[in-house]
Amino acid sequence: MRQTQLLSPTLRQAPADAEAASHQLLVRAGYIRPLASGVYSYLPLGWRVMRQLERIIREEMDRAGAQEVHLPALLPAELWKQSGRYSVYGPELIRLQDRHGREFALGPTHEEAVTALIRDEVKSYKRVPLTVYQIQTKYRDERRPRFGLLRGREFLMKDAYSFAIDTDGLDASYRAMFDAYHRIMRRLGLRYRAIEADAGAIGGDGTTHEFTVLADVGEDTVVSCTACEYAANLERAESGSAAGNGAGGREGSREGNYPAPERFPTPGMRTIDELASGLGLKPSAVIKTLIYTVDGAPVAVLVRGDHEVNEIKVKNCLDAAAVELADEETVAAVSGAPIGFAGPIGLRPDVRVLVDRDVASMSEGIAGANAEDTHVKHVVPGRDIPLETVGDYRNVMEGEACPHCGEGRLQFHRGIEVGHVFKLGTKYSAALGATVLDPNGREQPLLMGCYGIGVSRLLAAIVEQHHDERGIIWPRAIAPFQVHLIPVAWKDEAQRQAAERLYAELQQAGISVLLDDREERIGVKLADADLFGMPLRLVIGRSIAEGMVEWKERAGTGAETVRIEHCIDNVLEWV
Ligand code: ATP
Ligand code: MG
Repeated sequence: MRQTQLLSPTLRQAPADAEAASHQLLVRAGYIRPLASGVYSYLPLGWRVMRQLERIIREEMDRAGAQEVHLPALLPAELWKQSGRYSVYGPELIRLQDRHGREFALGPTHEEAVTALIRDEVKSYKRVPLTVYQIQTKYRDERRPRFGLLRGREFLMKDAYSFAIDTDGLDASYRAMFDAYHRIMRRLGLRYRAIEADAGAIGGDGTTHEFTVLADVGEDTVVSCTACEYAANLERAESGSAAGNGAGGREGSREGNYPAPERFPTPGMRTIDELASGLGLKPSAVIKTLIYTVDGAPVAVLVRGDHEVNEIKVKNCLDAAAVELADEETVAAVSGAPIGFAGPIGLRPDVRVLVDRDVASMSEGIAGANAEDTHVKHVVPGRDIPLETVGDYRNVMEGEACPHCGEGRLQFHRGIEVGHVFKLGTKYSAALGATVLDPNGREQPLLMGCYGIGVSRLLAAIVEQHHDERGIIWPRAIAPFQVHLIPVAWKDEAQRQAAERLYAELQQAGISVLLDDREERIGVKLADADLFGMPLRLVIGRSIAEGMVEWKERAGTGAETVRIEHCIDNVLEWV
């Protein structure tokens, strides 16, 4: 490709709203352009990278035995009503009507559509296990589209769905996809983790892993162990006490003679910090009581003062649809006090109380007294707080012992979730009637798995890991062009001729080349080359008189000179 013919408008300045490096660089280098919030056009360079990414993903899906299909993006609402998701998916689902007033949705994901297809076309257990996949545009009206391609409202996803008659079949399909995802991440040269994740609303039998690319801009917190393989996201990571090792047992003895609970004034001390500094104690001496509204009912969650409540764990434990912090009125109604003074003793009797294990193992603590400007001390779990609903309701903390090996410590990283594999079980097949006859002639709902990769998000995540202050540094596997060929002075006859010859020869050898045939100053050309990020740059300048070409890898630091007649062989060896 000749650069004079390439639609690649570069910008000196990043757009003002672009916070993420990938967003800034992809726009500046002319790979993408916004059309609306969270909606992007791909220009030729951006689309070439996308094609490469798709190629790698297709190769690995095919190798894992999955078959490519293409389902509609325009989905009849009826299907979503059958699965029950039409009402619960919420405002992220883009809904529309056709000219006859029939309801449709733009597909944010395709469990319903694929289940309906398999329901109608597969009738016998002999046809499964079966995995189909597609690479398709998805629509989600995200509350906060941001970071360019990382969270769009229209984005490209590879989604795959597996169907099996028994758990062995499901496990094998899940494993094949899990392995394929690892191969894809490795081929892309990414630093990533495959982590245990929360099953969320899509839910099935609960087994799920997220593939998370490590990057500071990521919205997810990845927890991993310094010693063993354990990795989970923060929503899911178990506290050591929950796993039953480390701090699981009671430190003090409940038999100990603790004085009776005693109320005392704490004017204006609403937060744990205010209380701890006001009384000169450690936050861990306090029992923190948070009032939530869970599917409309009040629930109090007790965690140690230095811990944070994990709302997903609360939600899962109560099998709830919605967990949110209670408003001021609710807090006043159930505790009789303003926010900041709720506590376990004397709450309205209908309030369900969840006690985190680390609170249960405290010998005594200080808690809110359910009265303004008042706390209570000598609160003894077990004596003053019923321990019927003890569980793991908190986020783990950096540095605490690993729940699995107990040897290592937990460390945190920021990450971008680029892929997600789930075991769905029969959730969709049962709702939509996707059954087959088993070997005994009995009808069985199919067991399903679903497997997504955000292809456009992955593109941006790669840039997050592969860039410097000057621009993008594409890994060879997905670069839009392998070689950027740059004559210093296009007007110079010798340089131009040598460049044209090398351009033709490289292409004949099967190498993709971008030839900078612009009459620009060399400074401008090199700055653009850095911004574009092609992995190898060949510069033809005055030393072409001696038959020499400059060879510089975008990822490396130094440059070398090579003889022009060796260029093709060297490039073939390098790619
Ligand atoms: P998130 O928690 O980031 O919203 P999700 O759990 O909604 O992601 P899934 O429903 O599992 O995502 O979708 C599969 C994959 O699609 C994700 O792993 C991610 O890579 C990608 N994806 C999801 N939402 C978006 C989006 N708004 N923009 C780009 N990619 C997305
Ligand atoms: Mg989402």
